Amino acid sequence: MAPPHVALFPCSGIGHLIPFLRLAATVAARGCTVTLITLHPTVSAAESDQISKFFALHPHIKRLEFQPLSFKKSKFFNEDPFFMQVEAIGNSVHLLDPILSTLSPPLSAIISDLSVASSISSFASDKSISTYVLVTTSARFFSLMLLLPKLAALSGIQENGHLELPGLGPVPISSIPPPMLDSNHFFSAVINSNIPCLSNVKGILMNTFTELESASIEALNSGRIVPDLAPVLALGPFDSFEFEKAPNLPWLDEQAPESVLFISFGSRSALSRDQILELRDGIEKSGFKFLWVLKANKVDKDDKEDAQTILGESFLERTKKQGMVIKGWVNQDQILAHPAIGGFISHCGWNSVTEAARLGVPVLAWPQHGDQRVNAAVVESAGLGLWAADWGWGGEKLVVGDDIAAKIGELMLGKDLRARAKEAKEIARKAREIGGTSDGFLRLLAEELKLQEI
Ligand code: UDP
Repeated sequence: MAPPHVALFPCSGIGHLIPFLRLAATVAARGCTVTLITLHPTVSAAESDQISKFFALHPHIKRLEFQPLSFKKSKFFNEDPFFMQVEAIGNSVHLLDPILSTLSPPLSAIISDLSVASSISSFASDKSISTYVLVTTSARFFSLMLLLPKLAALSGIQENGHLELPGLGPVPISSIPPPMLDSNHFFSAVINSNIPCLSNVKGILMNTFTELESASIEALNSGRIVPDLAPVLALGPFDSFEFEKAPNLPWLDEQAPESVLFISFGSRSALSRDQILELRDGIEKSGFKFLWVLKANKVDKDDKEDAQTILGESFLERTKKQGMVIKGWVNQDQILAHPAIGGFISHCGWNSVTEAARLGVPVLAWPQHGDQRVNAAVVESAGLGLWAADWGWGGEKLVVGDDIAAKIGELMLGKDLRARAKEAKEIARKAREIGGTSDGFLRLLAEELKLQEI
């Protein structure tokens, strides 16, 4: 009998791509044929670079390049280049249908991004291919997405600026991303059109773990969020690859244990110029050693100005012993794993949160948009970090350097916080080891996909 053949279809953006690559490697390690559907061209240079490295490391994984048709005008409000590509994919995903039918051996399962789940599951079910969806956000934010059709009706019920949502408890209205509440926005349209198929898919895979989000995962799986949802399998935190672990930061090697603050806002969030300058002042005033990945544009290909032009030569000169500013891609996972790192200012993209938990690094949450405020609440309630909720969404207000310096001090000197982050690391490790909660879900998936035991 031919081994099972599983295809994976990630959508635009590193935050979607990376968990798919990590899951593809996990599935491929269990002796099945794996096809990864990759987008061409990618929006960011980082995506194409990660894809190339991935195939170089996994030559046995097949690549199916998919080029979405270009489109002239969106029906929705959509001006984010990553969302624009998601819309283009949605408009052309039907082209994949005949291609998937010709793959050899025939596909037994497809793991799709949520943003195309509805189309993929409809043509997969015609061919008796099992569909799974890999959801790339937190279980708590995913729950909110599932409740989106009800949010409009619930928005009248405001208790101290909170919505009381079934299975979620009170959710501050200020944490719901405004595009989600705007029916003309592509973000809410894509959720609304893909949520209904989630009762028909075989399973919903997530890069989270039971101990981190027990209440949300339990609420999802008991039908308290929505009835008839496919089973949610919390498989995380996903592990990184060898190529992400290459050591290349001699400066960091020279620093004392847990003395360096790492600052990164992920792959698609850029602070305003004024906010970058306040952050610069806050970092310097805090006096802590730092490693700052500076990003001044949403898309890396447009991020051409150097650190000196943005931050000023005198800052770089004054702080040359205090820290390092990097423009461009770094191996974040490798940096977070470094013993010199003692804290992480993060926008709380979900991958970053799970990496901080897996590596036991305390977080100062500074969410900018999307799911990040809800993710920040998970960070805070899990004891993994601090969240200055009054700093608002990115661009909502200018957070001044003195306030930033004070929070950095709380993060870097917080002994209890550090101890709790280490506990989170231990709990994450146990979740993934044999007999752990995530291992249990992975075994269930492997059984359903008829993969080999390892
Ligand atoms: N990342 C990285 N180096 C960078 C920027 C990002 O390794 O310079 C990785 C990071 O470790 C995470 C992913 O890219 O795995 C970003 O995903 P996340 O969900 O945290 O945020 P997003 O970029 O989607 O906002």
